Amino acid sequence: MNIQLEKEVQYVKGVGPKWAGLLEKLNIKTVKDLLYYFPREYEDRSQITEMRYASPGQQVNLKGKVLRIDLKRIRKGFDILKVTFSDNTDAVNGLWFNQSYLQSNFKKGEFYLLTGKISEKNWRKYKSKDINNPVYEKLDVDYPILNTGRIVPIYSLTEGISQRKLRRIISNALIDLNNNLEELLPDYILKKYKFPSLKKSLSAAHFPENKKNYISAHMRLAFEEFFLFQLYFLNEKKKYNIENGIKHNYKKEKMDRFIKSLEFKLTGAQKRVWQEIRNDLERKQSMSRLLQGDVGSGKTIIAALALLETITNGYQGVFMAPTEILAEQHYLNFKELFADFGYTIEIIVGSLKASQRESVEKAVESGEIDLIIGTHALFQESINYHKAGLIVIDEQHRFGVEQRHKLKEKGDSPDLLIMTATPIPRSMAMLIYGDLDLSIIDEMPPGRKTIATFWRRKNRRPKIYSFVRDKIKEGRQAYIVCPLIEPSEEMPELVSAEELYEILGNSIFKEFEIALIHSQISAEEKKAIMDAFRDGKIDILVATTVIEVGVDVPNATIMVIENSERFGLAQLHQLRGRVGRGKKQSFCILISDPPGEDAERRLEIMTHSSDGFLIAEEDLKMRGPGEFFGIRQHGIDDLKAADLIEDKHILKKAREEALEMLKDSRWEGKYPFLKEKIENIKLKI
Ligand code: ADP
Ligand code: MG
Repeated sequence: MNIQLEKEVQYVKGVGPKWAGLLEKLNIKTVKDLLYYFPREYEDRSQITEMRYASPGQQVNLKGKVLRIDLKRIRKGFDILKVTFSDNTDAVNGLWFNQSYLQSNFKKGEFYLLTGKISEKNWRKYKSKDINNPVYEKLDVDYPILNTGRIVPIYSLTEGISQRKLRRIISNALIDLNNNLEELLPDYILKKYKFPSLKKSLSAAHFPENKKNYISAHMRLAFEEFFLFQLYFLNEKKKYNIENGIKHNYKKEKMDRFIKSLEFKLTGAQKRVWQEIRNDLERKQSMSRLLQGDVGSGKTIIAALALLETITNGYQGVFMAPTEILAEQHYLNFKELFADFGYTIEIIVGSLKASQRESVEKAVESGEIDLIIGTHALFQESINYHKAGLIVIDEQHRFGVEQRHKLKEKGDSPDLLIMTATPIPRSMAMLIYGDLDLSIIDEMPPGRKTIATFWRRKNRRPKIYSFVRDKIKEGRQAYIVCPLIEPSEEMPELVSAEELYEILGNSIFKEFEIALIHSQISAEEKKAIMDAFRDGKIDILVATTVIEVGVDVPNATIMVIENSERFGLAQLHQLRGRVGRGKKQSFCILISDPPGEDAERRLEIMTHSSDGFLIAEEDLKMRGPGEFFGIRQHGIDDLKAADLIEDKHILKKAREEALEMLKDSRWEGKYPFLKEKIENIKLKI
């Protein structure tokens, strides 16, 4: 379909193999890639000023006839091309330096459009209106105007390709394009939203005639992108929210007993999400739900309630943590939480000895085990669940659709609860987790103090360390996080954990117990270190981002982050969440000599906000969806026209329409193009 669009870009007029090579650097390989390479911004050069009103220092768009062409050789290796234009109200000169080859582009008596700034210096010196290196374009009935005298697209470029060249190539491709491009969107949607045709939309997205024209084109293109993703996800959801899932019953006596045994009352938000989850558990359709809640908002207890419900119904509960450290921590935690119930709880992690592992696997298979906790190792082929009723996945927002489906195939469509502390803006969640229902804990347990956060330059380290020393003497513990494990020759400005550990351990913090932890340390050793830290036997933990998720040591109240500029906002927020987990005031000190404004802004946001959702939204704005959480592998970089932040309202409409379409069980037959497209998405995600 749309064969014209699938053509290699080198066949577009003005491209050829040489330019095709350059375009490839912009990821443009086909005509389609070219036409979907949308401008980064637009510049409105449509307002033409009469030359008599063009004043020195002013940026203007002019239209005039060539009066004179002068090439002056000033000295060897320096010449000035001066072209004088007039519009009968006044005259303006265009000046080009050492570009004598442009001379042949101008013809006396012909009309041109010009854009640029009238030089103040020349006005003072010579009383002449000059523009240095103006943008120019010959008015020609046979060619569309592309560079000035209109709303002009500005593209992101690569070396060797100019705006001018790219505009020309894109315009050529648009001219070539058949009017009857096959439409993906069904007629009724095009009509309902008064969307322009695909060809018109593409034209207007590059060369809009006016703002309105641009908006309707953009709406249509963004809608189409969103619509495809929504159709895909909602279709998957329909397939897997199978009617014959597990229907749990609420075992009131046991649940009440458990809730009573807690040392605290559930927050309002916890009660609400628990109710949402219960509704899912207690109906036949199987659950696929994403639970979002900032670090420390109390997701574990929600998981515990849900797991208890499945166990009291005679099923197995499965809980997966992202790392062995966390699996271990949850294992201990759940043993304690469920101590009064006499359930069998076991753990499976990669470092388990083969014999141990085999016996646990057997026990899982026979149904002896009520709750099994572990890492990815839980989902290996060798493990057969006896009767999995609920799978909880902690801190794993990167779990893809296919992986989620695989889990559902373990047993009889167990319910699935995915938890994440990474706040994902709603629009983003709707896009990449379109097949999941969403629950949000938007309230912290009472009495939490906000983490006092400071940004300090590197030269303040002595003061920072003396602050850390004071706190440790008061009995607190600290994390010091570095971006690297070992020193890197390529990035000498980055502090490595190994180096810092040496320095701190041998001199600055000699009197304290200090340990080093990172991903290359064996699982066994990691566990030993974390246990010692939790028991208060270690005062300072020098670490990499291995401690990013879930680690819970309430007495650790200080976090120092080296080279903070190296981390994204969401990641900084995650790291900071390791402190502030107890009753004592916590501190986070971001050490950074930021290299640019962006980095500086990120640090400012961190010092001023503790709201994970706000931070995530800022992160999304600053980095775009492609970089956000490494979403690239989700295929979301296919969003070319749509913008997750600006176009939320379009996303909402697209989702509604996709839902509507799926109500018709014959939609695939009616819209075979859409079906094909969606299968392509599936292959990519
Ligand atoms: P996260 O959402 O980051 O996984 P946790 O579930 O680890 O958070 O909870 C953080 C801490 O807050 C735990 O020590 C937990 O016992 C406690 N907690 C959870 N819910 C409440 C509540 N409603 N009131 C008081 N403390 C709570
Ligand atoms: Mg947690």
